[in-house]
Amino acid sequence: MSNNTKENTALPIVIIGGGIGGVATALALSNKGYAVQILEQAPELREIGAGIQMPPNAFKAFKALGVLEDVQRLAAYPEKLVLGDMLTGEAVFQSPIDEGFVERFGYRYALLHRGDILETLLRACRASPNIKLTTNSKVEKFEEIDDRVLVSTADGLTYEGRAMIAADGLWSASRASLFGHAPPATDGYILCRGVVPVKEIPQELYSQSVTMWGGPELDFFHYPLRRDEIFNIGASYRDPGIKFEDGYPRGNRDTMNQRFRDACPHVKALLEHIDVSKAWILYDRPPLKEWSKGRVTLLGDAAHPTYIYISQGACMALEDAVVLAEMVDSHDAIQDAFQAYQKARYLRTARIQFTSRQFGELYHAVGVQRELRNHLLSAADPRALHDTLAWVFGGIGQIDPTA
Ligand SMILES: Cc1cc2nc3c(=O)[nH]c(=O)nc-3n(C[C@H](O)[C@H](O)[C@H](O)COP(=O)(O)OP(=O)(O)OC[C@H]3O[C@@H](n4cnc5c(N)ncnc54)[C@H](O)[C@@H]3O)c2cc1C
Repeated sequence: MSNNTKENTALPIVIIGGGIGGVATALALSNKGYAVQILEQAPELREIGAGIQMPPNAFKAFKALGVLEDVQRLAAYPEKLVLGDMLTGEAVFQSPIDEGFVERFGYRYALLHRGDILETLLRACRASPNIKLTTNSKVEKFEEIDDRVLVSTADGLTYEGRAMIAADGLWSASRASLFGHAPPATDGYILCRGVVPVKEIPQELYSQSVTMWGGPELDFFHYPLRRDEIFNIGASYRDPGIKFEDGYPRGNRDTMNQRFRDACPHVKALLEHIDVSKAWILYDRPPLKEWSKGRVTLLGDAAHPTYIYISQGACMALEDAVVLAEMVDSHDAIQDAFQAYQKARYLRTARIQFTSRQFGELYHAVGVQRELRNHLLSAADPRALHDTLAWVFGGIGQIDPTA
């Protein structure tokens, strides 16, 4: 902890939400000597879903958080990122993840199980005397009074904090109470997943690469996880019949099969392994320029939820955590730290949100747009993707969005 802090630091910083963002932030602050109280509404901290792609910028954050080796031990590493055309079954673009990539960006491109990331961060949190983690604590209200924030939970308790960080996700009630209620936006795409032991996947369908099959208003992806133990697959398509429910809606196999009727045999064979009992509706929100007010700020999906197409939502939450802790440590007043944090982050996270949308359009291209995509990408330099996303992979140091 910096010794220039003039505030009363006896009170903890209260974090709402024990997802990847909240837990990483607790760890980042605790590493700098700050006391933290996490309040999580669920009875236990757990991640749903399986695979998550983590480009090198996430690893810069893991290093700053002190969990780099632990995460690296659990990762699988693809040799290539492949874009295939779902209708022809042919690869249109293949980008190597090789020594040149590592030299340029510092780390490899990794594939991780969400549960493994959360558990690694939690283990580090549990080892810290600075962090208190309380589950079954749904925050219902917060109020800034003088030099503190009072945070009230559904079980009638009130927590006093020096400040509050809302890492309460896509549907953040804290964001709604600070900046007004507005539902997140969706283009109507849902995602159903499959997690299959690699030994059950026929040899001809297995690939060690991250493969994204782009189709007309469809996509399908697969990659291995947990050092090749499991095969993570996902099918995404439009299903306007599905509405948000509390929890996860069900997919519909008939609708899915109908949507993928023209897919190549490879995708159709893997489609059988998709579990439709749970679907994720894909959302984002338009970027905010300001997401801090006084002693309260937002972080992760609460601040800047993004479409999944460049695999950056959780990475942005990790980067937020590192930058926020740096700002808290380098400012006397926490309100100034929160302003500095949002200033450092809003253009980079906005660019991620816009770029994710553009990649979604590329994957889902129809008609002439699809032909143009295939024509241009099949002639492109395999390293063009490294150049295009260098500002993403380059990481948290590059907060200048034009870098
Ligand atoms: C299908 C899919 C695939 C994805 N793939 C990738 C990928 O490959 N790479 C990547 O980087 N990102 C990916 N993402 C994005 C990533 O999952 C999210 O960006 C990330 O999990 C956000 O973390 P968070 O901590 O901000 O929010 P969350 O994980 O949503 O955590 C919010 C927490 O707050 C708690 N909470 C909410 N309200 C309250 C309350 N009132 N009181 C107390 N607790 C509360 C919730 O219970 C929850 O635990 C993907 C997302 C989806 C949907």
